[in-house]
Amino acid sequence: MKKEQFEKSVEEKIKLLMANMSLEEKIGQTCQITLDAILKTDTIGKILEPLQIDEIKLNEAILKYHVGSILNVSSHTLTLSEWKSIHQSINQYYLKKRSKIPLLYGIDAIHGVNYTQGATLFPHEIGLAATWNREILKKTASITATEMRASGIRWNFSPVLDLGRQPLWSRYFETLGEDPYLASELGKQFILGYQGNENKIDRTHVVSCLKHFVGYSMPQSGRDRTPAWIPKKYMSELYLPPFKAAIEAGALTVMVNSGSVNGIPGHANYNLLTKLLKQDWGFKGFVVSDWEDFSLLSSVHQTAGSYKEGIVQAIQAGVDMSMVPTSPLYKDYCTLFNEAIKEKLIDSTRLEDAVRRILRVKLYAGLFDNLNKTKGEDYLFGTSTFKKEAENAVLESITLLKNKNNILPLNQNTKILIIGPTANSLNALNGAWTHTWQGIDTTYNTPGPMSILDAFKSRNPSISYVKGAVNEYKDGWESSRILDTIKLKEEALKNDVILLCLGELPGTEKPGDIRDLDLPEAQLQLAKCAIRTGKPVIAFLVEGRPRTLHPIVEGLDAIVQLYLPGDYGGSACAKIVYGEENPCGKLPYTYPKYSGIIEHYDHPKSVEKSKTNEWNGFDPEWEFGHGLSYSTFTYSNLVVNKDQYHDSDTILISIDITNKGLRAGKEVAQLYISDLQAQLTPAVKQLKRFDKIDLLPGQTKKVSFLLSNNDLKYANQSGEFVNEPGFFRIQIGPLSKLIELIK
Ligand code: BGC
Repeated sequence: MKKEQFEKSVEEKIKLLMANMSLEEKIGQTCQITLDAILKTDTIGKILEPLQIDEIKLNEAILKYHVGSILNVSSHTLTLSEWKSIHQSINQYYLKKRSKIPLLYGIDAIHGVNYTQGATLFPHEIGLAATWNREILKKTASITATEMRASGIRWNFSPVLDLGRQPLWSRYFETLGEDPYLASELGKQFILGYQGNENKIDRTHVVSCLKHFVGYSMPQSGRDRTPAWIPKKYMSELYLPPFKAAIEAGALTVMVNSGSVNGIPGHANYNLLTKLLKQDWGFKGFVVSDWEDFSLLSSVHQTAGSYKEGIVQAIQAGVDMSMVPTSPLYKDYCTLFNEAIKEKLIDSTRLEDAVRRILRVKLYAGLFDNLNKTKGEDYLFGTSTFKKEAENAVLESITLLKNKNNILPLNQNTKILIIGPTANSLNALNGAWTHTWQGIDTTYNTPGPMSILDAFKSRNPSISYVKGAVNEYKDGWESSRILDTIKLKEEALKNDVILLCLGELPGTEKPGDIRDLDLPEAQLQLAKCAIRTGKPVIAFLVEGRPRTLHPIVEGLDAIVQLYLPGDYGGSACAKIVYGEENPCGKLPYTYPKYSGIIEHYDHPKSVEKSKTNEWNGFDPEWEFGHGLSYSTFTYSNLVVNKDQYHDSDTILISIDITNKGLRAGKEVAQLYISDLQAQLTPAVKQLKRFDKIDLLPGQTKKVSFLLSNNDLKYANQSGEFVNEPGFFRIQIGPLSKLIELIK
């Protein structure tokens, strides 16, 4: 069916459905509850295991309150058959409804289907961003979608498109890094991979949800859900573009920022949710709140005087569905919403609009067609091909930050001692949102995937291991402890090289807050102890954000960033270390040198050392886009089609890249633009295009890029994009050229 025809038929069905719905049924469509709200509990309210649907609660939720959506897992991952039985119970009930409108089930499947046992687990977004590879992002998302469908779920609360510019923030690993263009380009791939190319979501795809609109990732304090201040210029240039690109790619739902920006709670922000997202950008899907956020408008943000006022504020601002999601809160929600409509505190047209949007997404998701036919359908799940793709994603993400005297790769005979708190932990590789919310519990780990230690031992069982230090939570905060290091010194003497596994504990949202960006002290001590043995030390960083480690950088021979690679991080790491694979990841952020100085690559010139500021300047540990290879790449022949451009001209740029090394490798051509003068201080450079290419030894490839005058625009103080004539520098690798925009 053609797009217009499909859209027309959907709108007609919505009209028919709505004509038959009562006020209560409409309100119910906007109400989302969590799975726990319909599960059986013991006498003290503890959920019974194995999970059982409580028919009385389900009956009440669906038939009395007409709840339109359910989310989440209970406290831990479920098997495919447990998911199946949950969906069967829910689906039987919706058929008893007068309106027979199916429920939309949502889940956070944010690095693979992390709440279904045995699913394929991928790197978290920060690692995927380091691949700089659009194809990998799309494949990752489409495998996730297939495995979600195998689990009977059609709505994914992913991708996170918040920009990672505040590394203290506990959810930094859920972002695609600090750059708006990189995040926009890769974010679009998520939408294509999750939702597919058809008008209607087909049997192997799911509805995506962009989150958290917008500004959530930039809390001043660094702590989760605390306020952000973002001037309009930077909102337009940095935080909005990834969301806009994903909406243009067809994303069907958006989740709201739980925090506040410039004093306005995300859930009460009419200008962002209604004016910008729905009116200016033409978003036709629906907006869902984050967890409990309608009630938090009174209890936390204090912009509302009561729960009812919070509901009014959020609905009037443009939120269409409330993730209420607990019981009995959801019952109050439905009752108070009803009162607010009757008292004309909420326009009934607003409710109509919200319901229309929710039904539209349900129709696009194909929920009305085949919900009960899915039972017997056979989906691919946890296949060896999927696992290979997951390992491939890790291989493309691993970023070689330092490689003194080309110590890496090691040869197979090197005698290795492995140490460090992240060496023998699959949970450290997977991070939070893995089998459980915080990802700490080891009970549900998938059998088969290997920790770093297991991966090396599987190749050579005689490899030595000394833990050296532990990471743990103490009083709710991350802490680390050094263990007996005498053994470490003894073992070091017997080996040629030390592999030092550093990093973080799994954690997200408020429980994942940290107080300091430095790697925990005991890990730095352990590193120093390893360096003092005189053996070469190769560090692996298993971390969701750049933890500062300047005091040990000089003493380490090689440093390899693994990010949070997921189940296949261990095996991929061994392949890189032994040179079976050539590293090709590039940092998706600026790696700070000091915990007190957080900077970004696209800073203004005032941040740099200069003639007028000879004291200090931009000085990161490693720059955005940095990443070494076992090959060497050279850049030549930067050609720009003209020197002067008018507004309507196309700028054509090409460059030759040559692999001068002895191994096949991959390089990312990164094109930056610098505006040399503007009415508002410009950034020293901004990424405008990139392309990852394969090169055989000795091979040269030409990479071409097209730009338009839109790429030369900046956002003014009102957040509008404007062009100013003048000179711009175009830079790829070490080469650059000046061009002039003339009016
Ligand atoms: C998180 C969201 C998530 C939701 C549902 C919230 O606490 O902020 O990112 O999608 O829970 O699990």
